[in-house]
Amino acid sequence: MEAILKLVYLAAAVCFIFGLKRLSHPRTAVSGNQLAAVGMLAAIIATAFDRQILGYQWIIIGIIVGASIGAIVARTVKMTAMPEMVALLNGFGGAASALVASAEYIRYMTLGETPPVNVTVTIQLSVLIGTVTFSGSLVAFGKLREIVTGTAVTYPLQKTLNAILFAGTIGLVIWLSMEFPLPYVILILAGVGLLLGVLSVIPIGGADMPVVIALLNSYSGLAASMTGFVINNHGLIISGALVGASGLILTAIMCKAMNRSLANVLFGAFGAGAETGSSVIVAGQKIEQPIKQITADDAAMLMAYGKQVVIVPGYGLAVAQAQHEVREMAELLEKRGVTVKYGIHPVAGRMPGHMNVLLAEANVPYDELYDMDDINPDFEQTDVALVIGANDVVNPAARSNPESPLYGMPIMDVDKARSCIVMKRSMRPGFAGVENELFYATVTSMLFGDAKDSLKQLISEIKEL
Ligand code: NDP
Repeated sequence: MEAILKLVYLAAAVCFIFGLKRLSHPRTAVSGNQLAAVGMLAAIIATAFDRQILGYQWIIIGIIVGASIGAIVARTVKMTAMPEMVALLNGFGGAASALVASAEYIRYMTLGETPPVNVTVTIQLSVLIGTVTFSGSLVAFGKLREIVTGTAVTYPLQKTLNAILFAGTIGLVIWLSMEFPLPYVILILAGVGLLLGVLSVIPIGGADMPVVIALLNSYSGLAASMTGFVINNHGLIISGALVGASGLILTAIMCKAMNRSLANVLFGAFGAGAETGSSVIVAGQKIEQPIKQITADDAAMLMAYGKQVVIVPGYGLAVAQAQHEVREMAELLEKRGVTVKYGIHPVAGRMPGHMNVLLAEANVPYDELYDMDDINPDFEQTDVALVIGANDVVNPAARSNPESPLYGMPIMDVDKARSCIVMKRSMRPGFAGVENELFYATVTSMLFGDAKDSLKQLISEIKEL
């Protein structure tokens, strides 16, 4: 039995690894997800046959309640609320690991036994990382939901206090490991973990929340892996380690796409004092600038009589749920002989791959999607760059204004196209809260309105040409 269990866990791990590999391309992502789900099902079934299980009643109740809530939430969540959902799920994952490890601690205490030192250490790490993940994820969820302020909360000596608390926590783990089993150890650790989670996420600006969520995702994997060591479950150790490593890699990719270090994201308080309003700062002076507006029929004409149109989608496309209209408009243009390409910025939207998922849902062909590095040299030969609900990822200040919080982030060079049409509802800034110089550029015209409504108008105008 023991050998079969290990073999099934090994097979599940192979499914996870190949599933993850397949997730790296939109074409194979769905089957990758299914493969990983099959692996997880196999691991769950194998665990259910484990001889150590005393009764199935609570397990079945847990599966029914958990799976029902999960299925309902997954089916009803809006694409724009996905990062919030991921934040919550990470938090619950962390809490589950902390609870399992705590139960094991209580079991040892009830038996009056002292566990081996490796188990003592992993119980504590599991509780600590699990509770940090739980409270940190709740704060991240609150910031994304705007229940908690999205701006970075800072106060004097914040970093020093956090560093002291962190060092103190490590000391506490070492001390408690030597003194085990002390009563209330778990409560002390859980309290410290919860506090650390809140204090480390609260100073991070709302615009950086997706990066933090990827990091917390990695923590939840680490906590699960530690719990795997506590209860000696190889499936949990492997899957936790995979989540930990992939979450960390994702964090690194997102930081690279924004050209910021992880330290800058975690301690930079990005967005704490971001400026807003319909003016730009040029050479330290705030200048009210005129903007050019365009009507849907003029915009339709500009695109329909051009040779190449590059569509640059952003978060606003997801808000408007206008992916089907974009595809329809692109097909109409293509029928007229216009080359249509989609330029995808790595952090456009609110989570990695957000735009790819959205466009795939509307059956936009994968070969029309271009990464930022591949499309940027193309803008100089582009007649119209059509920016739909994107803002920060097309802000030229990231290239030219060292004062801008976005400075250094690679952007889509839409301002290098012959003309640029920006579709959004108002002059409000994007997620980072900074003013966008693009709106005032000579090549730019603004098409105001909800992206879906404007696209419908564009479609009917193109049909009439
Ligand atoms: P932004 O948040 O910068 O801009 C989105 C724009 O969409 C807004 O300016 C808004 O303007 C407009 N908008 C909203 N709703 C609609 C609608 N219904 N119709 C038309 N327009 C609409 O999005 P970007 O995609 O350009 O940038 C992503 C941001 O998220 C960056 O700051 C990035 O750093 C951050 N981020 C993303 C990550 C990721 O993994 N994707 C990770 C980390 C950070 P208005 O209100 O006027 O309509």
